Amino acid sequence: MPTPKISFEFFPPKTPEGRVKLLAARDQLAALKPEYFSVTYGAGGSTRDNTRDIVMQIHRDGYAVAPHLSFGGDSEQAVLELIQSYKDAGIRHIVALRGDMPSGMGIHKLVNANELVALVRAHFGDHFQIKVAAYPEIHPDAESYQKDVYWLGEKFRAGADCAITQYFYNADAYFYFMEQCAQAGIDKPVIPGIMPITNFQNLVRFSDACGADIPRWLRQKMNGFGADSDGLKAFGEEVVSRLCEKLRAGGAPGFHFYTMNQAEPTLGILTNLGIQ
Ligand code: FAD
Repeated sequence: MPTPKISFEFFPPKTPEGRVKLLAARDQLAALKPEYFSVTYGAGGSTRDNTRDIVMQIHRDGYAVAPHLSFGGDSEQAVLELIQSYKDAGIRHIVALRGDMPSGMGIHKLVNANELVALVRAHFGDHFQIKVAAYPEIHPDAESYQKDVYWLGEKFRAGADCAITQYFYNADAYFYFMEQCAQAGIDKPVIPGIMPITNFQNLVRFSDACGADIPRWLRQKMNGFGADSDGLKAFGEEVVSRLCEKLRAGGAPGFHFYTMNQAEPTLGILTNLGIQ
């Protein structure tokens, strides 16, 4: 089996301690020679400076980095300036998103990701490799399953190179989605997004917010660990490693890890997969 391409996602740290922790995690994960690291962008542009700052640091340190980007409440001019600063620095990847509007930011029209991809291609040609989001369990706002697949296709037709999925714990959802994508003429890579399991309450909170399904058996089992966080982590590592093995055997082209700025959970899974 070919070695899958891997990438690691961070969120921008809010404190100097968080930054030190992120960079330490990056150094550990860098040993696995990822294709790139990515850094999320706060809803509504709320982390613009923090994201840019840590993106530039990772780039200066010699690693490929993919800043996430969305319009939020910003003007086209502000978004173009931010992208230009990434281009000027020599950054070659972008994750283009619609994002969500945080409460309290008023009502802005969200700019869909296909429009952002088109804007980047129109202004920056082929400079960036553009990645977009995909949802094997379907985006919560989607009109229908087929419409969501259609809009993913529009992101590729606008010029995206690959997609990264929302996390999921049901490999069949991914395989079925890939079949539907193929039927819709999508032939670009759709990389599974992998969320290691380290904290039950946080995972439930995230999953409820983003529409990711936690199967009942998994929820019940995780709940049973109570305060035994080591037990939960060991179980989580086993479950997610098995998921990755299934995905790999079924032809998934790589893995994008939602690291939550921690190296160990991701390293544990990759070690189980024989990727070290
Ligand atoms: P879109 O592709 O625009 O789709 C949004 C919804 O609208 C879907 O239901 C789709 O079916 C529909 N749709 C798409 N295009 C159109 C159109 N042109 N007209 C009408 N309807 C349309 N959020 C953050 O805030 N920051 C991040 O850094 C971040 N990183 C992410 C990384 C990954 C890999 C993933 C999977 C998600 C990430 N998100 C992030 C979450 C993401 O921003 C939200 O899921 C958001 O609600 C949708 O973004 P999108 O780019 O998928 O939107």
